[in-house]
Amino acid sequence: MRVLLVEDEPGIVAEVRDCLGRAGYVVETSGDGEDGWFRGETESFDAIVLDLGLPKLDGLSVARRLRRAGVATPILMLTARGSWMERVEGIDAGADDYLPKPFHPEELLARVGAIMRRSERHPSHVLEAGAIRVDTRRMSVTVDGATVELSPLEYRLLRYLVHNRGRMISQTELEEHIYASEQEPDSNAVEALIKRIRRKIGSDAIQTRRGYGYIVEA
Ligand code: CA
Repeated sequence: MRVLLVEDEPGIVAEVRDCLGRAGYVVETSGDGEDGWFRGETESFDAIVLDLGLPKLDGLSVARRLRRAGVATPILMLTARGSWMERVEGIDAGADDYLPKPFHPEELLARVGAIMRRSERHPSHVLEAGAIRVDTRRMSVTVDGATVELSPLEYRLLRYLVHNRGRMISQTELEEHIYASEQEPDSNAVEALIKRIRRKIGSDAIQTRRGYGYIVEA
C-alpha cells in the first residue's frame, strides 16, 4: 500500500515514514502543498496524510483541490491540538479523518488503516480472498488456516492483490504500490516475486492474464 505524506517538519516526516514503513507501507513524501497537490492528483496512492500548515499551499486548499479534481483517495489531516475549527474545516474540505499534533505514531498507523478500510469497504483488518487470509495488523498470511512465511516485499505484493481482489492489476501498478520511488525495480522483479509467492501459497491463487497483469479472484 502506498501512502503520500505531505509534511514540512523533518522530524515528523522521519517518524511517520519509519512507523508506516515498518508496517509494510511504501511512503512517499512531499515537503510543500503545491508538490503534494500535484502528486496527489497525478499519482496513485492508497491514502494521503496531509499536514494543515504547509509552505506554498495550505493543507485545506490541497484537500479541496484534490476533491474538486475527483481524487477520492482517503485523506488523514494533521491538525493542531485543541483547534476544533481546524478539524471542522478539514472535514469540510474533504478529509476523512484528522489527527491532532503531537501524536503517537501508532495512532497514526491505526487511523491510516481505518480510513483505507472505510474507503474500500473492508470493515475488518483481515482481508480474505478464497482460502487466503491477510491479517493487516499482524502482517501475517494464512492459506486454508496454515501460516505462510513471506518476505516483506512478498507480503506487500500479496496484500495489495488481495486488497484489490477481483480487479486486474497491471505490473506497473504493482511496482508503484510495493516499491518506493527511489528504488528502481528490475523489469522482471514483479514476475519473480509472483513466482516465489505462488511457490508458497499455491499456483492457482494468483492468476496471470498475459499482457494485462495479475488478479486474485474475489
Ligand atoms: Ca507544518
